[in-house]
Amino acid sequence: MGAYIGIDLGTTFSAVSYLDENGAPNIIDNPNRSAGDNITPSCVEFQNDGPVVGQQARAKLQLRGKAFGRFKREMGGSKTYDVNGEQLTPTDLSALVISEMKKIALSEVGEIEKAVVTIPANFANEAREATLAAAKKAGLQIDHIINEPTAAALYYAFQSGEDLHGHYAIYELGGGTFDVSIIRVQGQDIVVVALNGLHKLGCVEFDEALFKLVSEKYLKETGEALDPLDYTLNQAEKDKISLSTRSKIVAGGDDEIGDGSVTIQIRRQEFEQAISALLAQTEMLCEATLEESKLKADQINQVILVGGSTRLPAVRESIKRVFGKSPVPVDNVDEMVALGAALYAALKSDGAGLNTAQSDRISKMTVSEIANHYFGTIATVHNPNTGQDEQQNSIVIKKGERIPCSVTEEFFTARDNQTSVDVRVTHAGRLETDPQFVKIIWEGV
Ligand code: ADP
Ligand code: MG
Repeated sequence: MGAYIGIDLGTTFSAVSYLDENGAPNIIDNPNRSAGDNITPSCVEFQNDGPVVGQQARAKLQLRGKAFGRFKREMGGSKTYDVNGEQLTPTDLSALVISEMKKIALSEVGEIEKAVVTIPANFANEAREATLAAAKKAGLQIDHIINEPTAAALYYAFQSGEDLHGHYAIYELGGGTFDVSIIRVQGQDIVVVALNGLHKLGCVEFDEALFKLVSEKYLKETGEALDPLDYTLNQAEKDKISLSTRSKIVAGGDDEIGDGSVTIQIRRQEFEQAISALLAQTEMLCEATLEESKLKADQINQVILVGGSTRLPAVRESIKRVFGKSPVPVDNVDEMVALGAALYAALKSDGAGLNTAQSDRISKMTVSEIANHYFGTIATVHNPNTGQDEQQNSIVIKKGERIPCSVTEEFFTARDNQTSVDVRVTHAGRLETDPQFVKIIWEGV
C-alpha cells in the first residue's frame, strides 16, 4: 500500500511528511540536509546538468547565475524566469520543488497513495490553479489542496488529543504571506470560522527592511551606496535571525560588508522600529478577522503560531497587543503545515488504503472550510436612478460561506428569442458590485 503524504510548498522553505503505521504524521528529512534541517529551501539552481533544488541553490540566490527563489509569490501571475533563453513560469519552478519533495518522500515510503499540497488561505484562484498545475507537472495526482492554517490546526488538534474545545486563532507568518484564521475546535472536529491574509507580507519584507537599515547606515558612514552583492539578502536574513536572540548585532557577522572599512551595528530596537508598520498591518487584519468571526479577543482560548517568522520577538509582542495573551509555545512552527497535510491526505481518501490504527485515528477527525473570496457573476440590471441598463457583479457565494457549497440563483435572458447567454464567473476579495473591480475567473456560454 502506498503512503499518505503532505507537502508544504513554502515561499522560502518546503517540507514533506507521511502518515506512519500508527496513524501519526512524521516529517521526512531531506537526505541532503545540512545538520538538523528537516525543511528544504524552495530554491532552484540551473546547472549544466540540470536543475538542483534546496540549500545549494539558496546559497546562490542573488549571485550572478541561474538560481531562483521566492517564486511562490508570483504563482498564477505573468512573471517569467529566463533560463538560457527559455522562459520558465513560477509554476515550472514550483513543479521542480514539488518533484524534489516527492523524491524525498519516496526515499522514505517507497510508494505514494495520496498527496495533498498546501496553499496560503488567501491565495487567489489563479494561484490555486497554478499550484495544482505544478503538482501535476511534478507527476503527483492531487485531488485536494488545503489552506496552510487549516492544515496546521488539524495537526494541532490531532496532537492535543480530545482536549481542545472552543475558539483558537492560527497566526501564520512565514516567508511570503501572512494568514490568520479563527477556528472552532471540538475535540477532533475543526470548523474554520473566519480567515484573512496578506499577500507579500513576510520574511522577505523583514529582510528587506533590515537591508535598508544597514544600507542607510553604510551610506552615512562611508558616503557610498552599499552594493547588494556585498551585503546580500541572505546575509540580512541571517542577521535578522540573530536579532531574535540578541539585542545588538554587527551586520554581516564575521564577513566584511561593502569595502570592509566600517562595521555597522544594528540594535534590535532599530529593526523593530523598521518593521513596525508591517506588524501594524497584521494587527489590523487580526482585528478584522475577529470582527468577522463575531468574537472578542478574550473569547479566543489560544493563539497558535505557524511559520518561521513567528520567532521574531516583535511578533509575539504584537500578538499580545491584539489578543491580550501570549501565543502558546510550540517547537515545530516550521513543520505543522506539512504534518497537517498528511493527515488531510488520509482524511480525504476513501480509507481503503489505511490500516486499522490509521483509520482509527483519522475517523474521529472532521474539517470544515469556508470560501476565502466572494464569487459571483456579471449580470445586466436596470438602474432606476439613471433609467439605464448596466452591468453589475452579482455575488452568488459569499466570503465565509461553508465549502463545498452549491448555490442556485435565477437570471433571465434580456431579449425575446434569446437562445444563449454569455456567463462570467467572478472572484473578489470584497463585496464588490462594480465589474471593473472584480476578477473574471471563468467565461463561457
Ligand atoms: P514559508 O513557509 O513561507 O517559506 P517559513 O514558515 O518556513 O516560510 O518561514 C521561513 C522564514 O522564517 C525564513 O525566511 C526565516 O528568515 C524566518 N525565520 C526563521 N527563524 C527565525 C528567527 N529566529 N527570527 C526571525 N525570523 C526567522
Ligand atoms: Mg510555510
